[in-house]
Amino acid sequence: MNKKLADKVAIVTGAMRGIGEAIALKLAREGAKVVVTDIDKEECEKVVEEIKQAGGDCFSLKLDVTNREDWEEAVRTVKERFGRIDILVNNAGIADVEELGDCSKIDKILDVNLKGTMLGYNVILPVMIDQKYGKVVNISSIAAMVSWSKIPTYSASKGGIIGLTKCYVGSLGQHNINVNAVAPGAIETKMLDDLLKKLGMSRELIIQAIPKGRIGEPKDIANAVAFLVSDEADYITGQVIVVDGGYTSM
Ligand code: NAP
Repeated sequence: MNKKLADKVAIVTGAMRGIGEAIALKLAREGAKVVVTDIDKEECEKVVEEIKQAGGDCFSLKLDVTNREDWEEAVRTVKERFGRIDILVNNAGIADVEELGDCSKIDKILDVNLKGTMLGYNVILPVMIDQKYGKVVNISSIAAMVSWSKIPTYSASKGGIIGLTKCYVGSLGQHNINVNAVAPGAIETKMLDDLLKKLGMSRELIIQAIPKGRIGEPKDIANAVAFLVSDEADYITGQVIVVDGGYTSM
């Protein structure tokens, strides 16, 4: 049976663990050639090994999303190795707790979450326009949609990603490029673990507010991304798909 993403070339950022790792593994299982990138290349190797052992084609790259030169180098390397770039998943992100009046974390969070995604756009979208094909998924968060007072810059950055997701849709359709966002709810990763510790919050408290009765797993997000970057989702663009077990519907 033909795999959904056979021969497509995908770049996933922040893919050494967590949601990015699950996305890289899922896209590879669907037949894509995956470029596993993160700020630390060495840490990506275990993901690369797992994909290769399952028969997939992939390699790793150091890509600090805040660094324009890293993005440009990534384009050169991926085009040399695989010839094209069909899929970009802007997943890399950081989160931190802030008190009102503390401005010390604003630059860093906006740099990675928002500027990092915008640099990806500026460097990768021209390649997709030349190819007349592209699927982009930006990882936002339900933090952009609900009132959580302890993560203001994170929430703003994820809201910015939604604005960015919609901004080029009008002009990209004619180039056969789809851009969508996925907004995860609470997903079991190091980021969530660190945040809960800093907030002094228990998992039980969160689970009570989730209709599906569990915290999400990285693969819940990976499944949504794999659909959005496939040709089955060809008529979906400019959308934000919430994957939160029903949390924001309550
Ligand atoms: P994670 O486990 O912390 O993974 C994030 C990855 O991004 C890490 O490998 C991290 O590396 C990397 N990264 C950080 N700064 C980077 C940079 N400048 N360039 C490239 N990579 C960088 O987090 P996650 O939970 O999987 O989150 C993935 C995405 O989902 C993020 O955008 C996050 O905001 C979003 N999200 C997560 C949740 C959740 O509940 N987990 C909910 C909503 C949205 P280092 O460890 O070296 O920093």
